[in-house]
Amino acid sequence: MPRLEAVLYSGQIGEGEVVKQFESEFGAFIGSPNALSFSSGTAALHTALILAGVRPGDEVISTAMTAEPTNMAVMHAGAKPVWGDVDSSNGNITADSIAEKIGPKTKAIVVVHYAGVPASLRCIREIATQHGIPVIEDAAHALGAEYEGQRIGLHSEYVMFSFQAIKHLTTVDGGMLICKNAADLPVGRRIRWFGIDRAQSRTSVDVREVGYKYHMNNVTATIGLAQLEGIQPVLERHMENGAFYDQTLGNIPGLEICRRDPSAKPAHWLYTVLAERRDDLSRYLTEAGVECSQAHRRNDEHPVFVASKAHLPGLDSFYSRMLHIPCGWWVTDEQREYVVDCLRRGW
Ligand SMILES: *Cc1c(COP(=O)(O)O)cnc(C)c1O
Repeated sequence: MPRLEAVLYSGQIGEGEVVKQFESEFGAFIGSPNALSFSSGTAALHTALILAGVRPGDEVISTAMTAEPTNMAVMHAGAKPVWGDVDSSNGNITADSIAEKIGPKTKAIVVVHYAGVPASLRCIREIATQHGIPVIEDAAHALGAEYEGQRIGLHSEYVMFSFQAIKHLTTVDGGMLICKNAADLPVGRRIRWFGIDRAQSRTSVDVREVGYKYHMNNVTATIGLAQLEGIQPVLERHMENGAFYDQTLGNIPGLEICRRDPSAKPAHWLYTVLAERRDDLSRYLTEAGVECSQAHRRNDEHPVFVASKAHLPGLDSFYSRMLHIPCGWWVTDEQREYVVDCLRRGW
């Protein structure tokens, strides 16, 4: 019987052994025994913020150059996102700007590896360690990426992965949190299940903290296990397509490729180019039948984040020039060559 059908008819569709198995196999893939599964990446991020000690009224240094869930999770924790500025050549938050924004209310630093390009973790972690502030990596774009020869997932106190429908690995919806410290695991398990310690008897357990309904179930975990078996070629194809663009897009007038930390090996969930006449390029590629987009709106433009307004010249520069070109596992050799031909012809 197909595995999904088997679990659907097993009578055990909730959070059970399959979820534990997925946590253990995903953790092994990253290289950590401390993996906690969630119903979404956003739920994993919210829980990471609570585990990091973020409480209502606190500040969290974050980036506006990301998908909304990164900063919504900060709001869920009752905290205020304080925007760090990004490197105008790759969209990642910079260590210098984090250092500038740290204040007495700062309780955590959220780092997004934008498009799957690892941020400069060495400098960021040095500043965080100096101030005793935990780092939470939003690695939703960065499954399989590496920094200083180690997989993303192993560098910081908390690292979140998303298994939402369009990510490298999907469970339809789901997420994972890799914790550096094993002591966070039992607390994280309570937070994701109404504050209840499931190891104790349901009728005698005392609930002492606010918890949520954030757990994963056996059905989505079954999809995750099957996805994990086939993930290597998917990740490799994203990386190969990215490397192909790195090699072929170097000398095109009006176009720049992203500069990266030399210690970073990107996962290329997206491939970002920077163009001076970006909107013209976008129209030109669309007319040529090449799918391209900015994918995300800078979060500081949303009214919900108005209290966080800040001067962000690096982001202004990046956001006005950035465009993503097709680089996923589905992009064939012919298609990527066509993209390069179009760019060489000019716009
Ligand atoms: C997908 C994504 C998330 C998490 O999203 P979920 O849909 O909750 O799994 C968080 N941050 C970024 C940057 C993302 O792209």
